[in-house]
Amino acid sequence: MKLLLRVLFYTVLVYASYQLLAGLMQKKPQLPKVLQDYADNAMQQYLCKAPVSWRIGQLDPAFDLTLEQAEQAAHSAAMQWNQAFGVELFRYDSLDGFAINFAYDERQQQVLQQALLQRNLDRYDTNINQRVAGLQQQSARLQQQQQQFEAQNQQFAADVAAFERKVQQASLDRSALQREQQQLNQRQQQLQQQADNLNTEQQRLQREQQYINDTVADRNALLPQQTTEVAKTEVGLMEIRGKQRVMTIFAYKTLTDLQLTIAHEFGHALGVGHTDNPASVMHAALNTQQSRLTADDIQALKAQCGL
Ligand SMILES: [Zn+2]
Repeated sequence: MKLLLRVLFYTVLVYASYQLLAGLMQKKPQLPKVLQDYADNAMQQYLCKAPVSWRIGQLDPAFDLTLEQAEQAAHSAAMQWNQAFGVELFRYDSLDGFAINFAYDERQQQVLQQALLQRNLDRYDTNINQRVAGLQQQSARLQQQQQQFEAQNQQFAADVAAFERKVQQASLDRSALQREQQQLNQRQQQLQQQADNLNTEQQRLQREQQYINDTVADRNALLPQQTTEVAKTEVGLMEIRGKQRVMTIFAYKTLTDLQLTIAHEFGHALGVGHTDNPASVMHAALNTQQSRLTADDIQALKAQCGL
């Protein structure tokens, strides 16, 4: 009986603790909206007054980017904002800064594949251009040699005709005529040899032309692999959960692009949204008009900070 009571007592105790715990877990402290807005505003104003610190987090080796390059790009991006405002909005902190992670997925994979494809196309083009230039030079030389051969051939035909006229004249020295005939025969053999050489060269150049055509076909077969630009959509992500921030970069084509992407995500880190001006860093899509923060970007952050 005593034991039963004790078991019952503990059962009740465990049940009560569980209820209490479950209640605590369900009830997340939820501020009324006005208070939440006030907290967000206070947070935002604090943000623009104290620097947000960052560090490089995970850098997937498949990303094809060194830690130094990643840090350099982020430093340049931070510098853009800091210089535009004349205050330190972003600060490097290898320990406490929020992480800028580089996540490798199909986006960066596609960028790397496209870069490899472009390098192959460039290699084909260099090779083709060199061969075409070489072939043109050799063809011009061959044409010149053919013309010279033609002139020699005509001269030879004239000399043979002259010789045949001499043979008609019975008064001439027979042995002299024989020597002349031997010389003409020798010349004929030389000309034949030249003609053979020219033909061989012409065939070689034709084969080279065919080889170039094949190479062009191989090159052009690569073209369908070219896809539309990956970087048209935002390739970075800024996640803010309370005080926690995480930046993730999914792709970069050039280090300049990377710097722009990080500068864009830095803007989001301070709560700045997208602008309509394509040249501004806070425009939704990365494009060639962007290079540095524009008046629109600066105005957007000023409005965000209540400046
Ligand atoms: Zn964005």
